[in-house]
Amino acid sequence: MTNKKGLADTVSAIIERVKTEGDAALLSLTEQFDGLKLEQVALPQQQAKAIIATIGEAEKAAIELAYGQIKRFHEAQVQSDITVETTPGVVCELKTKAISDVGLYIPGGSAPLPSTVLMLGVPAQIAGCKRVVLCTPPDTTPGNEGGITPEILYAAKLCGITEIYRTGGAQAIAALAFGTESIAPVNKIYGPGNSFVTEAKQQVAQDPNGAAIDMPAGPSEVLVLADSNANPAFVAADLLSQAEHGPDSQVILVSDSEELISATKTAIETQLSILPRADIAKKALANSRFILTETLEQAVEVSNEYAPEHLIVQFNNARDWLNSLDNAASIFLGAYTPESAGDYASGTNHVLPTYGYSKTLSSLNLGDFTRKFTVQELTPAGIQAIGPAIMTLAAAERLDAHKNAVGLRLDALRNNDKSS
Ligand code: NAD
Repeated sequence: MTNKKGLADTVSAIIERVKTEGDAALLSLTEQFDGLKLEQVALPQQQAKAIIATIGEAEKAAIELAYGQIKRFHEAQVQSDITVETTPGVVCELKTKAISDVGLYIPGGSAPLPSTVLMLGVPAQIAGCKRVVLCTPPDTTPGNEGGITPEILYAAKLCGITEIYRTGGAQAIAALAFGTESIAPVNKIYGPGNSFVTEAKQQVAQDPNGAAIDMPAGPSEVLVLADSNANPAFVAADLLSQAEHGPDSQVILVSDSEELISATKTAIETQLSILPRADIAKKALANSRFILTETLEQAVEVSNEYAPEHLIVQFNNARDWLNSLDNAASIFLGAYTPESAGDYASGTNHVLPTYGYSKTLSSLNLGDFTRKFTVQELTPAGIQAIGPAIMTLAAAERLDAHKNAVGLRLDALRNNDKSS
């Protein structure tokens, strides 16, 4: 694994190359990292249509179901504008508008993620963003080399996304932030990715000419809290479903029961033997932890300190513990709530802060695709009501121009009154 300094240097070199060489850098880095020689970055419309036509009926129906679920949950997040008359004649408003140009990064290195298209594309569609741009590494599947998987394209179609580019990693983030000949820059970049993607997002967000970002959503993490009644096969399956994401995923089991931990380890061995991505999962498990605590309260403390991206609670009466669970980005309650539900189709968003950032950052939601701004309007009665206080405060801050801006208006109103 590249160390933090090495990673930062690698990523800043890639960003500089994209800034200076544009599309040529994207095509050359795609050849270097994804092993594909492309002629252009954009996916030609004709090719996209031909690929979408190959999608299976079951996949299409599943994507449509997930789209509907995610849409319902995110539509419910629309917030009404606020209008308050704070004093007669003083009206204050809080309004919401969509962020105009947004860039969605869809990971594609080790697994294509059409579910992420829905998690980013649905809220962008509901918010009404004017331009929605999708970047993803090109497909390397035999028969579709250099294309994009039909599932990603179908999900994009449902979300109304038509601007699609075949570029991944730090170079895609640089292109979205600074632009190239074929990709116009966006205002804000969304989406998870590996450590190169996450580092690139953080670097472009710090550049005044770069772009805003949603959050550092890096390699996935799950923490499972389980008591002695938990089903070890369920616990093992939840841990493995995270471990198979990538070798840098982290999975943690915290329990007060030695028997449960031991039975879970056995169940992991059994389930691993039939997983196609067992090699990846084994690497992730090597960095993972099984923590035995004295009490369930202590187990909860461990979780609160770690601040996991996903927290699965397989305690008896899991909901009773909800108020004590701090700092998790997404919580899954009870034996029949696997993380996979939230990853795909319950309706919640699966783009979540990692690296302990869930102590302060939120799960991706509709609000991330909008910005809020205020509007105010004062009548003569309004400025007369609060003007004297504003003048006193401005004088206390020694800001005479501020004081004058009110004083002149109050004088004009007094003169008008005299002359009428
Ligand atoms: P990816 O698309 O993030 O990265 C692939 C790209 O990385 C390649 O196209 C290449 O350009 C670049 N790259 C690879 N090796 C490189 C190197 N040595 N130097 C420079 N660039 C290099 O796909 P991935 O690798 O499969 O990673 C997806 C990640 O997203 C996983 O870590 C997964 O856990 C995470 N994820 C997180 C969330 C979340 O909400 N936090 C959700 C889904 C997935």
